[in-house]
Amino acid sequence: MLQKTSHFMRQANLVGGEWVQADSGATLDVTNPATGLKIGTVPKSGKAETRRAIEAAEEAFNSWRKTSVLERHKLLRKLHDAIMDNQQPLAELLTTEQGKSLAEARGEIAISAAYILWFAEEGRRTYGDVVPSPWADRRIITTKQPVGVIAAITPWNFPSSMLARKLGPAFAAGCTTVVKPASQTPYSALAWGVLAEEVGFPKGVINIVTGSASEIGDEICTNPLVKKLTFTGSTDVGKLLIQKCASTVKKVSMELGGNAPFLVFDDADIDRAVEGAIVAKYRNSGQTCVCTNRFLVQAGVYDAFVEKLAAATAGLKVGSGFEEGTQQGPLIDEKAVEKVEEFVDDAKAKGARVVAGGKRHALGGSFFEPTVIADATPSMKFMKEEIFGPVAPVFKFETEEEAVRLANDTEFGLAAYFYTGDLGRAFRVMEGLKYGMVGVNEGLITTVEAPFGGVKESGLGREGGHQGIEDYLDTKYVCLGGL
Ligand code: ADP
Repeated sequence: MLQKTSHFMRQANLVGGEWVQADSGATLDVTNPATGLKIGTVPKSGKAETRRAIEAAEEAFNSWRKTSVLERHKLLRKLHDAIMDNQQPLAELLTTEQGKSLAEARGEIAISAAYILWFAEEGRRTYGDVVPSPWADRRIITTKQPVGVIAAITPWNFPSSMLARKLGPAFAAGCTTVVKPASQTPYSALAWGVLAEEVGFPKGVINIVTGSASEIGDEICTNPLVKKLTFTGSTDVGKLLIQKCASTVKKVSMELGGNAPFLVFDDADIDRAVEGAIVAKYRNSGQTCVCTNRFLVQAGVYDAFVEKLAAATAGLKVGSGFEEGTQQGPLIDEKAVEKVEEFVDDAKAKGARVVAGGKRHALGGSFFEPTVIADATPSMKFMKEEIFGPVAPVFKFETEEEAVRLANDTEFGLAAYFYTGDLGRAFRVMEGLKYGMVGVNEGLITTVEAPFGGVKESGLGREGGHQGIEDYLDTKYVCLGGL
């Protein structure tokens, strides 16, 4: 399998256009979650390597910022085409290190390319203003300028597309980058280095460093040359990084955890709700920050929904991402399985009923059965904590007001979904949900054209949409006097 992907699989850092090892020569192993077998290694880098990567990005910024927007647009279009021309090998590399089905991996590569194209286009529309002046002898203009060196720290659940929506706007705006990918899935990030090199990005515009999260993170957060940190990952790590970035007053964008509610009202189309529930829950084996964490179902349709969801869940095909027809791959590692097990045990001990799955899958390793848990109550762990696995707890509610209150009873506020056939209710609930993104009668809502992001402790800023480039630009006000 890997022979086909070896062209993109680099086992080195990319710094200033050179593929290099850690100073100490130390490495980290990368394993395939479906087999537990080692795929290869990457450098175990720390502060010194990161500092050099930042300095390379700063040097490249001095010339990259002066390129025309059209020049950058053309390079981004080439990058888009190169990604799509290599969709299959890039998807295979992604499945090998991450575990998701090849169909989902191909989808992720396609959306990565789509983000690049979107920001290639948005880069041409970063207008400034000419402002009516209160002074007869002075004129006021504003322009947008690239922020500078951007650092991106990314997670293992979408190792390609989480970078696409950071690199796309950074490059389009004229920023240069230092990337630190998750250690579980570094190869899909390193592949961005290969692609950028091959389509002709200047050296140093993208730098990639793998290794110790805390050392690389510390250097990124405290180095004054880095002007912005964009992070996707857990809320705990996000909070730590915001604190560390305070020392140099960096801009920060944070895509953090979620606790997505999925509400089904008595007046909903239940079959459509079940269809939406399957994608909103089991995509990427439940390992996305917008995956449903809690199903809240009105009493009148509760039993019917549970029965249909359990039947649909039991029909999901679990297996290696490379097997034809696989709908659910393994979880990322043993720790993830232990967490899911703990949540299921906690629910069972508190009186919940397991109506589908409920245990480790017969395939062994980090495979877990797609699971539905009925009679969930707010005292159970998944009311407050992110499951990040294929477990669907179903709570019962009586009234609309109770449903919205339960849905909002969390410090998170990323995505929420609800199903109803009533127009008035659709507006009331949509306006009542304290979330950054809401799907009404839809379970899969992410697209490059729309702003992705959360409120409350789910994050700061938006990625994608026309909003997604704003954080990569500073507004400069210029006053021309003496006219
Ligand atoms: P998850 O629980 O999804 O693995 P994390 O927040 O732990 O999410 O990881 C997301 C990214 O943040 C990864 O690239 C990880 O290596 C990185 N990371 C984890 N801890 C730190 C830290 N202390 N400083 C900087 N980056 C970190």
